[in-house]
Parts: sequence; C-alpha cells; structure tokens
Amino acid sequence: MARKPMMAGNWKMNNTISEAVVLTQEISNHFEKDWGDSVDVVVCPPFVDLKPAKTVIDFDKMPIAVASQNVYFELKGAFTGETSVAMIREIGCAGSIVGHSERREYFGETNEDVNKKVKALVAADLYAIVCVGESLAVRESGEMIDFVCAQVRAAFAGVSVEDATTCVVAYEPIWAIGTGRTATPEQAEEVCAAIRATLAEMYGEEAAEAMRVLYGGSMNPGNVEALLAMPNIDGGLIGGAALKAASFIQLVEACL
Ligand code: PGA
Repeated sequence: MARKPMMAGNWKMNNTISEAVVLTQEISNHFEKDWGDSVDVVVCPPFVDLKPAKTVIDFDKMPIAVASQNVYFELKGAFTGETSVAMIREIGCAGSIVGHSERREYFGETNEDVNKKVKALVAADLYAIVCVGESLAVRESGEMIDFVCAQVRAAFAGVSVEDATTCVVAYEPIWAIGTGRTATPEQAEEVCAAIRATLAEMYGEEAAEAMRVLYGGSMNPGNVEALLAMPNIDGGLIGGAALKAASFIQLVEACL
C-alpha cells in the first residue's frame, strides 16, 4: 500500500486561543521533523484558533498542517457567521473537514451542501476531509454500506478525478463518535473497503488506490494499531484523543 497515512485531530468546539496555542506548542515539541516523511499530521482547531495555531507551527521545521472544521461554499457576501475558502486559505489552512456528522445533525448540513463545499475547496486548491458515516439505526437495519456509499457519491458528484484525489474520506460511524464504542477493525474495514470500491467506480482503480480513507470514532492509543492494520484504513480523524498532546502524538507514532 503506497498511501501515506494521515492523522488528523478534530478539536471540535474545544480550546480558546490561549489553550490552542499551548496544545499546538505541546504537539510541536513532541514532533520529530522526519515523521512528516511517513505521515501527514493535521490539526483542525475552531476558526478563531486557526491563525494562532498556524503561527506557532513553522511548517518547514515541523510539518504539521492546519485545517478548518467547516467552511462555506459561497465565495463572499451577505452570509452572516460564515467563513469562506479564501479566508481559511489566507491563514494558511491546507483544507477543511466537510460534512462531519455533528454538522449534518445539529446544523442541517445536507449531502448537497457537502458537495458544494468540496467543490469550493478544491477550486481554491484546498482539500476536503469528507466525513461520512451511519447512525446506529442505519447500522442495525443492515443498510450501512448503501447509506455511506451514497454519501460518498453525493459528496464527489461533479468533482474531477484530479480534484478528488487531493481529498480524503473519513468513515465515522455516528454510534462510535465520542462514545468510547469503537467499531471493530473488521466493521471499519468492511465500510472503508466499500468506500474505496465506490471511489473506484467513480474515478477508476488507480485513483481509488491513491485516495486515503480514514477511520474516526473513539480511535485511541489502545485501538489504533489494530485499525491501522486493516488494508483500507489509512489513518484517523480523532476527536477526544486529539485534545491531549500525549495521546495525539501516540496516534501519530502508530503511523510511523
Ligand atoms: P471521537 O471523535 O474520536 O471523539 O470519537 C471523532 C470525530 O468526531 O471526528
């Protein structure tokens, strides 16, 4: 497998600017420069923390990328409270998470919104970390593969192969997020393999083999090795365990 793993920390609505600076500094302090050859490390702080976090990281010395947790698809104008791709790009963000299940659930984000956001990001030379994942009810109905693959198809509808291959898909079963109830490696692998098969239908085998599919949902230092051992899991999108430098660094080390 030639894919370079990615370990991305989704801080969600945690950390004020001063706390974000401390956490970013702690992560940088533990980070060895050459790790960047083996793993792409990304931190995703809240909007207000992006610039301060970015300022702490000298990317040439410490290859840790900064990405946002959300972005709006319109380019500018009267959209109170929203943030554009140009705004995050100027800060130095490499991309943005898109379609996290919390955004879909609490902020009504639809597959169509996710698709527009992916398009806005790639048009600005930024990448999307596209989140997909089923609820417990969908899993128990046995329809999770169809459900998740439909989310993937919708997210990338009309996106070119060149742009899609800059993006990352994160499979995050909703029942595993923040619950301590991780999907087993086999459960996660089954869906991640189906996601890759869907990408292959859309973009061809070669592109699908090049794209990274992450797992997210209570990934932690205790279960990371078994998850990463699966052939179609190329890293993690980490919530709780990314809020402490020590555990996040352990997750990064598991990719080396
Ligand atoms: P968790 O969150 O690691 O706390 O389960 C993952 C996510 O929501 O991205």
